Amino acid sequence: MATQANHVLVTGGAGFIGGHLCRRLLRDGHRVTAIDNFDPFYPRAIKEEGIEDFPAQVFTLIETDICNTDAILHALHARSVDAIVHLAARAGVRPSIEAPMAYEETNVGGTQSMLEVAREHDIDTFIYGSSSSVYGNNDKVPFAEADPVREPISPYAATKRSGELLAHTFHHLYDITTHCLRFFTVYGPRQRPDLAIHKFARQLLTDQPITMYGDGTSRRDYTYVADIVDGIVRSLRRAKGLDAPEYEIINLGGSETTQLKDLISGIGEAMDITPEIEQLPTQPGDVERTYADISKAKQLLDWEPETPIDEGLQQFADWVKDYYADRPVLEV
Ligand code: NAD
Repeated sequence: MATQANHVLVTGGAGFIGGHLCRRLLRDGHRVTAIDNFDPFYPRAIKEEGIEDFPAQVFTLIETDICNTDAILHALHARSVDAIVHLAARAGVRPSIEAPMAYEETNVGGTQSMLEVAREHDIDTFIYGSSSSVYGNNDKVPFAEADPVREPISPYAATKRSGELLAHTFHHLYDITTHCLRFFTVYGPRQRPDLAIHKFARQLLTDQPITMYGDGTSRRDYTYVADIVDGIVRSLRRAKGLDAPEYEIINLGGSETTQLKDLISGIGEAMDITPEIEQLPTQPGDVERTYADISKAKQLLDWEPETPIDEGLQQFADWVKDYYADRPVLEV
């Protein structure tokens, strides 16, 4: 059994968080294999741009569906993988209400498939990208890992919680160390275009009013992508240093909440464009607020977020202006 993750398999490795994670792992001297099917949820070009400069000697991309267990088992045959970071998913709350079956297939079936890959190839470490959405509309804040998560309010949230349960089963049966990391709204360069910050930026760039759902008082805990990646890296390190397998659920969040209307002014400031706002009714499936208790991450991973929201928004704004400088702005 390896005592460090020399070779890491990252599912969803071409995605927003996955691309940033692969870059960090390569920089830290790991070999990385990524699995991604370039799901058409948003343009392939954004994903390719994030991974195109990775050196072929240490980075391999397997373009396949995570549900295709046999193909993955076969492709990994000659490679010894020390850990899986499972990030591939259909992400997004609102689209999951339109297509619950597709979410179930990828997020539940796909997670089951990747756990099967871990078992078949004796991979003893499985880090799962879970979500704050599992807390639903819980009243108690900040959200802590021991809080009840029995009442998800979107198919997406229900599938992410299902993944945590499946991962527990495999931990129990096959001694796979598993960390389910519950990410709280992640943002930064190359953020998914369906997420609010990226949508607002495109509305600003095209002189449209910003569509604000609700009265602007809903609150979110935003986490900068480099901080999330750092949490994943620390989780891998912890997993590989253990004497006995463990299963842990760990929040990774900014641990500060921002009101939607303040987020809109913040992104306006970062882009240097004054926002005009169009208020629309609250969307079904959206939670009222998210707020992470991160004491467990501090204790187990010695992790704390380091990027304040204004700094992170500036990083994002610089990227988004640069990205759309020489191509059409994606429709909102
Ligand atoms: P993303 O859509 O940018 O990345 C997901 C990647 O998975 C994409 O590149 C996509 O092509 C790939 N993928 C989707 N279905 C696949 C399949 N069947 N087979 C292979 N690859 C497939 O999303 P992201 O924001 O980077 O999210 C990564 C993970 O983090 C997801 O599991 C998501 O649920 C979780 N998460 C994200 C956030 C956030 O704010 N971004 C918050 C909480 C949890």
